[in-house]
Amino acid sequence: MTQEQWGALQHKLCETVGENNYKTWIKPLSYDGVNEGVALFKVPTNFMSTYVSQNYGDLLLAQLSTVTTEIRRVQFKVANGERPRVAAPAARVEPTAPSSDLLRGAPLDTRFTFDTFVVGKPNELAHAAARRVAENGPVTFNPLFLYGGVGLGKTHLMHAISWELRARSPELNVLYLSAEQFMYRFVQALRERRMMDFKEMFRSVDVLMVDDVQFIAGKDSTQEEFFHTFNALVDQQKQIIISADRAPDEIKDMENRIRSRLQSGLVVDLHPTDYELRLGILQTKLEAHRALYPSLGIDGGVLEFLAHRISTNVRVLEGALTRLFAFASLVGKPITMELTQDCLADVLRASERKVSIDEIQRKVAEHYNIRLADMIGPKRLRSFARPRQVAMYLCKQLTSRSLPEIGRRFGGRDHTTVMHGVKRIEELKIQDGQIAEDLELLRRALEA
Ligand code: ADP
Ligand code: MG
Repeated sequence: MTQEQWGALQHKLCETVGENNYKTWIKPLSYDGVNEGVALFKVPTNFMSTYVSQNYGDLLLAQLSTVTTEIRRVQFKVANGERPRVAAPAARVEPTAPSSDLLRGAPLDTRFTFDTFVVGKPNELAHAAARRVAENGPVTFNPLFLYGGVGLGKTHLMHAISWELRARSPELNVLYLSAEQFMYRFVQALRERRMMDFKEMFRSVDVLMVDDVQFIAGKDSTQEEFFHTFNALVDQQKQIIISADRAPDEIKDMENRIRSRLQSGLVVDLHPTDYELRLGILQTKLEAHRALYPSLGIDGGVLEFLAHRISTNVRVLEGALTRLFAFASLVGKPITMELTQDCLADVLRASERKVSIDEIQRKVAEHYNIRLADMIGPKRLRSFARPRQVAMYLCKQLTSRSLPEIGRRFGGRDHTTVMHGVKRIEELKIQDGQIAEDLELLRRALEA
C-alpha cells in the first residue's frame, strides 16, 4: 500500500468513525509500510497504541483489506521505540515477551507533595491519615479509604504518600495507579494470556494505591480480580490506599463483599473546602506565581474575592489564578479587581453560587428573629427595615440577580430602593461592628 492509498483511506475512515474520533485516534497514526503482511503504524504514545489497536484495530484491518490483499495484520509501534502492540483477533495474538509495563505505576506529579498540601478543617483528618500511612510504621488501618468530591485533593494526597514513602523507604515497592489503569492492565494480561504474571506482580507490591475506585463499579471481572488482589495483600499485611468520589456504601454496582472490605479499615472523607482553606491555598499558590512573574502587582482583595466566588473545586480555583497571572503578564497590567472580573468572567459565571433569594430572606429573617412576611412587607420600622437591607445586600452579593429583580422579590420595591439599601449596608459594614459580624455569620451560613 502506498502513502497515497493510505491518504485516500483516511478520508473513508474519517467518515466511518466521525471527525472527533478521527482527529484523536486515526490522524496521529503515521503509516510506515508493509512488511511480510503486517502494516506498520507509528503512534506517539503507548497508551494510544493500545487504545487504537483495541478499538480501531479490526476496523483498520478491514478497511486496509479493501485496498490491498497483501495485509493480514496491523501493528502499532510507538515512535520512541516502545514495544509495539499487536492488533489482531485474540486467536492470532502472538506470544510476547513479558513486559515490565504490566506493573508500571502511573507517573507521579512532582507538585503533589505534603509540602504543597494546604491543611484546613475540611481536610485535616484525611491529611493526618495520609501522613500516618506515609510514615510506614506498622499497618494500623487497612485499607485507608479516602473519599470526596472532584478536585478536593484525593489524588494530591495519594501522590504525596507515594513521594514520602519513596524518600523514607526506597526499598519498598510502592505502586500507585488509577482503577482505570488497573482494569486496563488486567484486560491486557487476559489478552496476552499472562494472568499469572499479573497476579504475581500485583501480589509483590508493598504498598498499593488505587485512585478513583468507583470506576470499576459494574465491571464485574475487574472487580473480582481487584478483590483477590486486595485480599492477598491484606493477608500479607501490605498497606492499601484507595480513593473514590463517594463513600463505599454509596458506590452502586459494587459487590457487597468488596464494599465491606473497603470499609474494613479507616474511611475518611475530604469535606468541601471552606473559605479559609481556599484562601490558604490561593496564598500558597500566589508565591509560586510571584516567583514566575516577579514584577506583576496584585491588588489586595483579589484573592479574597476568588476564594469567595469560586467555591466548588480547588482545581478550578488554581486554574483561575494561573489564567489571571498569564493574562496580566501578557497585557502587561497589574491584577486589579476589574481585570480579574474581565479575565475570569466565564469561570465566575460558572461557579456562581446557587444561593437563592428565598434562602437569603429566610436565613436573614431567622437571624434577626422577625417574620418573613414583615421583612418582605411594607412596614418601615427600623427593626424590619434593617434586616430587609441586609437581605438585599446579600442578594446582590451572593446571587446574580439584578436590582429590579431583587426589588420585585422584596414586595415589589423599586430598584432604587434596593440600591439605597445595598449602599447603606456597605457604609454600616465599616462603621458598625455588629452589622459586619452579622453579615459574616450570614454569609457563612448561606455558603455552607
Ligand atoms: P481529586 O483527586 O480529589 O479530584 P486533586 O488531588 O487532583 O483532586 O486536586 C485538584 C487540584 O487541587 C490539584 O492541583 C491539587 O494540587 C489541588 N489541591 C486540592 N486540595 C489542595 C490542598 N489542600 N492544598 C493544595 N492544593 C490542593
Ligand atoms: Mg483524582
